[in-house]
Amino acid sequence: MVGTGPGPLDQMTGRAQAVIRASEYVLGNRTYLQAIRPLLAGKQVRESSMGKEVERAKEAVELAASHTVAMVSGGDPGVYGMAGIVLEVLERSGLAIPVEVVPGVTAATAAASLAGSPLSGDFAVISLSDLLTPREVIEARLDTAFGMGIPVVLYNPRSRGRPGNFGRAMAIARRHRPGETPVAVVKNAFREGEECLFSTLADIGDLEDRVDMHSTVIVGGEESRFWRSGEDVRGIITPRGYHRKYLY
Ligand code: SAH
Repeated sequence: MVGTGPGPLDQMTGRAQAVIRASEYVLGNRTYLQAIRPLLAGKQVRESSMGKEVERAKEAVELAASHTVAMVSGGDPGVYGMAGIVLEVLERSGLAIPVEVVPGVTAATAAASLAGSPLSGDFAVISLSDLLTPREVIEARLDTAFGMGIPVVLYNPRSRGRPGNFGRAMAIARRHRPGETPVAVVKNAFREGEECLFSTLADIGDLEDRVDMHSTVIVGGEESRFWRSGEDVRGIITPRGYHRKYLY
């Protein structure tokens, strides 16, 4: 299971590239395979679509009984990716196939890198997708996460099928955090169409239409603040705490 990172080849680790080069079969969904096209010459490529993850995992395990198989996943394969389901299917198969999970740059850190340094200390990550997790569970977790006062990163923030999830998540955030809390919407990090938009919890409704499934949203914590250059917002800084110990 190989993490391809947020987009282009130069954001993939050397190990991830080497593992793909050494594989006979490469499986994954179209977007991720397109991003690594230069590595796929001469390989058996199996493209599949979203929503077919279980079938893809079974196919990977069957092929891996007699071949070297790379299953690609965007970002990190262990973060809302294919690693978990492949390991579950493999465990059930009873086959003793050697397996490696190759980490990748996940959307949280890719997005954070374009938004200053909003995740310098503790932070929480929650996906707003209710395809595999019930909505009540997601909302209870959001309530706890925002209640902790640490930055919260939202994956799968707003889809066409459930556009209301994002607005509800922001309403939960406002129960715990003041209106001036900084928020970053990072769209298509390191890919074509990259955008980094800044707002506050009070005004985030104005950006709601811009938030989609290609976005990662970072809501600041109690200590997060905008990083400015004159009047311009350049990003968000969440101080790690050095100011409590050192003069600088
Ligand atoms: N395994 C992936 C996450 C898959 S869930 C990882 O580790 O990054 C899909 C969600 O990830 C998207 O809805 C979006 O919220 C986020 N995401 C993935 N790539 C992104 C990118 N390049 N820019 C912004 N968000 C991204």
